[in-house]
Amino acid sequence: MDPVELRLRRDLIDTCRSFGPERLSQGTSGNASVRWRDGLLITPSAMAYRVMTPADIVWIGFDGSRAGARPSSEWRFHQRILRDRPDTQAVVHVHSPSATALACLRIPIPAFHYMVAVAGGDSIRCAPYELFGTERLADAVIEALRDRTAALLANHGQVALGADLDAALRLAVEVETLAEQYLLARSIGEPALLDAAQMAEVADRFVHYRAGTLD
Ligand SMILES: [Zn+2]
Repeated sequence: MDPVELRLRRDLIDTCRSFGPERLSQGTSGNASVRWRDGLLITPSAMAYRVMTPADIVWIGFDGSRAGARPSSEWRFHQRILRDRPDTQAVVHVHSPSATALACLRIPIPAFHYMVAVAGGDSIRCAPYELFGTERLADAVIEALRDRTAALLANHGQVALGADLDAALRLAVEVETLAEQYLLARSIGEPALLDAAQMAEVADRFVHYRAGTLD
């Protein structure tokens, strides 16, 4: 096997194994994918992360071709995201507790904290409910992710995108943290929201921060 592909397969397994310690998912819920050769490598369906090996990872082409056994049941939205979003290299999907709690209330995360800008805008949307594993869910997820790198999925969980698997994982952790903070704030009141100008200022600062030009 190509050494780069083998490394990506191992990285996928490592990413999923960190879901537990990062409090992102328990059991076999959650999955991850990474762009590879006109398609994506994705974790298999219903397999415990501790027994998963690189050979269990499935490759799915953007044309629908496949190499491997049973991909995650959510392969459709992973495929759509990586096909339609050339800026994205990796996708993490989890049922993390606080993000999922908000998603069950169908409440998006507004600009209650400046870190919301980390997902690319002044809110993190909640995609409408659709049955797991369906093309309808893929449509809803794509729409909720417009100009964003993360979204909640109603009565389901969250999805986070990244320039690599580590970035997607870190964003999923951030979304879970924001969801937890927002739930906590809302438990005793209505949080004050930052306005569009304040969030634009944050977004601008993030650009310089990433470029290392922030003084
Ligand atoms: Zn799911």
